[in-house]
Amino acid sequence: MTKVTIAKGDGIGPEIMDATLKIIMAAGAQIETEEIEVGEKVYLAGNTAGISHESWDIIRRNKIFLKAPITTPQGGGYKSLNVTTRKFLGLYSNVRPCRSLHPFISTKHPEMDIVIVRENEEDLYAGIEHQQTDEVVQCLKLISRPGCEKIVRYAFEYAKQQKRKKVTCFTKDNIMKQTDGLFHQVFDEIAKEYPEIENEHWIIDIGAAKMADTPEVFDVIVMPNLYGDVLSDVAAQITGSVGLAGSANIGEECAMFEAIHGSAPRRAGQNLANPSGLLQGAIMMLNHLGQTDVAEKVQNAWLKTLEDGIHTYDIYNDKVSKQKVGTKEFADAVIQNLGQKPRVLKSASYSENATPLYLPKYQRKPMGVKKLEGVDLFVHWPGTEPDVLAAEIKKLSGDRSELIMITNRGIKVWPDGFKETFCTDHWRCRFKPKADISLSKEDILALLSAATVASVDVIKTENLYSFDGKSAYSLGQGQ
Ligand code: NAD
Repeated sequence: MTKVTIAKGDGIGPEIMDATLKIIMAAGAQIETEEIEVGEKVYLAGNTAGISHESWDIIRRNKIFLKAPITTPQGGGYKSLNVTTRKFLGLYSNVRPCRSLHPFISTKHPEMDIVIVRENEEDLYAGIEHQQTDEVVQCLKLISRPGCEKIVRYAFEYAKQQKRKKVTCFTKDNIMKQTDGLFHQVFDEIAKEYPEIENEHWIIDIGAAKMADTPEVFDVIVMPNLYGDVLSDVAAQITGSVGLAGSANIGEECAMFEAIHGSAPRRAGQNLANPSGLLQGAIMMLNHLGQTDVAEKVQNAWLKTLEDGIHTYDIYNDKVSKQKVGTKEFADAVIQNLGQKPRVLKSASYSENATPLYLPKYQRKPMGVKKLEGVDLFVHWPGTEPDVLAAEIKKLSGDRSELIMITNRGIKVWPDGFKETFCTDHWRCRFKPKADISLSKEDILALLSAATVASVDVIKTENLYSFDGKSAYSLGQGQ
């Protein structure tokens, strides 16, 4: 018997949780539930995290968490509990299967059967943002080698376990050569360890367009956090309804399972909501716990119910539906069908895919040879003429470093800029050592001191390094 933390959440949450638990318990799930309160009530009681310390203790103790959607109150500095939970518990992998159920659920993509594996902890979701000048704010996009290795390996291991044929990687590494470049590089490295699985990389923009148009050419798709956030909703929606998809958030120790939709407050308390999304989350949980026979039984009964045309309002369609039912009646119909298999849709057979995933702990590689090659000083300057700024900034360098370039929002504006280039008040001034000099941190301090004396408003510095002899920073656009 495995102890599972559950949270019934807000809006339609309690109804779909009750329906889900009723179904999986009737199917013989070997779980014992421990309920915690999260969400709106907790937020409105003044806890901006939406969860108490005691509830964290329970989640960490039980390690498995089945969560219904919650309502995040607008404004007031309330933090998204989903993002916090994923990051606190190290749930690095977000897995969303998106499969069409044609002809029982109408969709433009009857052949679609893809799984989005989204990195869940880093990228722009590190949430590190600053205002630096009157006109410019920044958000740091952090991509780490362990983050990439863990998620890419998860995608290949998942594909292997589920007997899927291909893993595709989506990035924008033609533009973000360092961050997305690392994700792509790690993808290529790890793909070599799985010669039996086809692998390919698409630039995200055309990849996303292809996925929305011809999803049947994809199988498993792995991608960084932000892209995965957007595209996993697109993928779920084009199967026919976001209301039918569940998701798993997997970490090294803990895991959280949920529906992908929100708390649909307008539908709450009316026995209207479709419990399928949370049920799909619960099925992923049962598979994760090794209770594959129960998971399979529930999935097949659910597919049979949809085939029978027993549909909640959100998927009801005169052409294929036979009976419009509420949340409770839908759950009862699934329970009635336990032990049966779908006639048309492919039935689930999870027990044959029960081999555990091989997910080794990340091993830090030996440190590279790191050399300081220069420094970027970011300057807040309200002027508009790059030549005027360059004349000021040149005065900061002594006999050891020299100004080689100024960019504005990444585009080179000095030397030899275009007068057509629009400039805001945020300038990157790049210094490199003169001739054969090896720069040191003291040289950077000297530059900063000179800037302070000259009243140049340096808002941040970024050191330019090479690792193992390879320069590891972007050039200016147009440089
Ligand atoms: P939503 O997903 O709650 O609702 C979008 C639409 O889908 C609505 O028309 C709703 O009626 C319908 N819908 C959603 N789930 C359904 C179901 N199971 N059965 C039938 N119809 C369903 O999105 P929203 O309205 O943007 O957000 C409402 C609240 O949910 C917000 O407070 C938001 O912050 C929260 N939210 C929570 C989660 C989560 O906890 N994982 C995820 C997304 C949004």
